[in-house]
Amino acid sequence: MATNKKKILVTESMSQQGRSLLNEREDIELIEFPNMISAGDFEAMLKQQAPVHGVALGATRFGEPELEASKDMKVVTRIGVGYDAVDVPALSRRKVPLMVAGSANSPSVAEQAMFMMLTLAKRAVEMHSLVRDGNWGYRLGMLPYDLYGKTVLIVGFGRIGTRTAKRCLAMEMNVLVYDPYKSAAEIKAAGCEPVTDLDAALPRPDFVSIHCPKTSETVGMFDAARLKRMKATAYLINTARGGIVVESALYDALVSGKLAGAGLDVFEQEPPPSGHSLFGLPNVIMAPHVAGVTREAVDRMSEQTARNILSALDGEPIRQNVINPDVLG
Ligand code: NAD
Repeated sequence: MATNKKKILVTESMSQQGRSLLNEREDIELIEFPNMISAGDFEAMLKQQAPVHGVALGATRFGEPELEASKDMKVVTRIGVGYDAVDVPALSRRKVPLMVAGSANSPSVAEQAMFMMLTLAKRAVEMHSLVRDGNWGYRLGMLPYDLYGKTVLIVGFGRIGTRTAKRCLAMEMNVLVYDPYKSAAEIKAAGCEPVTDLDAALPRPDFVSIHCPKTSETVGMFDAARLKRMKATAYLINTARGGIVVESALYDALVSGKLAGAGLDVFEQEPPPSGHSLFGLPNVIMAPHVAGVTREAVDRMSEQTARNILSALDGEPIRQNVINPDVLG
């Protein structure tokens, strides 16, 4: 049935807080789609519902075919901050803003990075087994480590990287930062040491925590050559995006004792295929891409997403959350 309302497609993972904000408006109609919808089904849905004026995306890809199918897209939002699944140039060509949820999930991801560093350093999985399996007597042969006094390298000093750095400083760690787009002054002002040459810096840290976006520049950033530069006693944490670390190279480094362990929230393929080589390693801890989706973060992100949509429909998009501000004029 024809309607004068603005149609907004929201993924099922958008929580009630955000939906309520949108539902309060009589000029808006919400239509839900499954988070894991296939590209073909999503395009068909857009065509069927067209004109569609806004979309709140979870994991779904969005680009030229989806823009074409929507007919009158006014704003594309992500209920998150990563946007490697969105074709930004395509949106910019059509003057459609892409908006993200700002810092709504940054503390949650920073906490997950800290959790992974602590879990690996404290050998949490092994210690748990020692108690449960009646092997208490072996405990002094496999001592855990402190974060205190250790060196961490933070790769990417944005909303999440800065917060991870703060938490590492609170643990009395030495914090190195590699971010070619941040000034040395800003990094120093935060109590950290800037490093400009990643390769030269890699032999120093006991932990490397990745917080940069997935771009053509960062895909494969941690390949065999880079991993080889790290200390054999070091741990690698990736809560950013799969593909920034080359998983086959990581596997080789871990099984050959060239790296102590890894914490992974993200994978080259999600979900990773069953029987993935990393699953069998005792020095790897994993999570199913949940760093940024705690109970609290889900509510903060959906509320921010709703505010982003409303701001764009009302003609005053929240600028700091717009990824392609060139469309705003
Ligand atoms: P942000 O844009 O605030 O910060 C990213 C930082 O990376 C920026 O300071 C940028 O200058 C820096 N950077 C860009 N290219 C770089 C490079 N080649 N080397 C080093 N640094 C580089 O983004 P954010 O909110 O901090 O999020 C960072 C990433 O974390 C996102 O892009 C997303 O992929 C990922 N993320 C994952 C989850 C999760 O659930 N696992 C949740 C949120 C975000």
